[in-house]
Amino acid sequence: MPYFEYTGHLHIHSTFSDGKGSVPQIAAAAREAGLDFIGITDHNTLAAREQGLEGWHGGVLVIVGTELNTAKNHYLAFGVSEPVPPSDADPQKVIDAVAAQGGFGYLAHPLEQGNPAFQDGCAFPWDQWEVKGFSGLEIWNFCSLWRSAFRKSWQALFWYFADPYRPARFPAPGGLALFDRLSRERPVCVYVGSDAHALSWGKGPLKVTFFPYRFLFRTLNVHLLLEAPLAEDAAAARAQLLGALRRGQFFCCSDYLQQGRGFRFSAFNAACGEVGMGGRLAHTPDTVLRVSSPSSRSVIRIIKNGRLAYQGKQKSLAFKVLKPGVFRVEVYRHSLLGADLPWIYSNPIYVTAGSGKC
Ligand SMILES: [Zn+2]
Ligand SMILES: [Zn+2]
Repeated sequence: MPYFEYTGHLHIHSTFSDGKGSVPQIAAAAREAGLDFIGITDHNTLAAREQGLEGWHGGVLVIVGTELNTAKNHYLAFGVSEPVPPSDADPQKVIDAVAAQGGFGYLAHPLEQGNPAFQDGCAFPWDQWEVKGFSGLEIWNFCSLWRSAFRKSWQALFWYFADPYRPARFPAPGGLALFDRLSRERPVCVYVGSDAHALSWGKGPLKVTFFPYRFLFRTLNVHLLLEAPLAEDAAAARAQLLGALRRGQFFCCSDYLQQGRGFRFSAFNAACGEVGMGGRLAHTPDTVLRVSSPSSRSVIRIIKNGRLAYQGKQKSLAFKVLKPGVFRVEVYRHSLLGADLPWIYSNPIYVTAGSGKC
């Protein structure tokens, strides 16, 4: 099935909350980084949308969501047009209010640990696990992982200049296991982002901006696979983009390790045809998963119901599905010198018990 692939970055703060860039500046940085779209998510405000900044900015589509709540239970909401009152203590109320507007959202940095050496150890994890109705989890948040990586500020400074990717090269511990548990109960999506703020330190010529937007936009991105090109009309393009983000028609990729454009994961059988990520397929004996990676240095893992079902160093594969289950793919980038590093996380495909209905 031919797809139209669009690369974007989610979870970005602008001057409408505690970020240091204006929306046009951020869109320009996205263009420099080669992105097709970005999701602005300022804290508890839709000001960027209210001021008419949603839409096309010279080839980059800007969509405006919001990061709701303050001290904990941060919820990244998209597809809302009216302000949503935050409620740290009752995030179900927030999830429901977003859904009532036809929007959706996911849990931001839900397993954040914080760091006693940084901001007095303050962290913003999710602590209400009985909630329902959210679309997924942010499994890999670049700046959140950085915040918890060091106990001494000199270590942070050293690695910032020596190898800025190193402290965030793995997703949050426990996040994927949590995702796998949730995905066996109902469809959910994995998301990644950077929590970009572009905070600066110092003054005048000595001012240093830590993690400028254009750097972060080359790290943890989402790659949407659409059936049709994004519309020129901004409202129609927004609807296409939000639909794909809600349904899980995308994969998450560390484009810092290597640009992941071209990765594909689908399921096929003769009765139902081909289904992509986020989709469902009724099981038949001829069902196969198809995986294709843009790199020959790929170690492909197939995860079925949270367990490793296959692993191999190869560029593509067809995997026969013997029984129904929730299938997702992880691709590691093989290293000759060190450990293989996580590169791509697909969203799941749900192969259901065969009932004749595709
Ligand atoms: Zn947050
Ligand atoms: Zn944030």
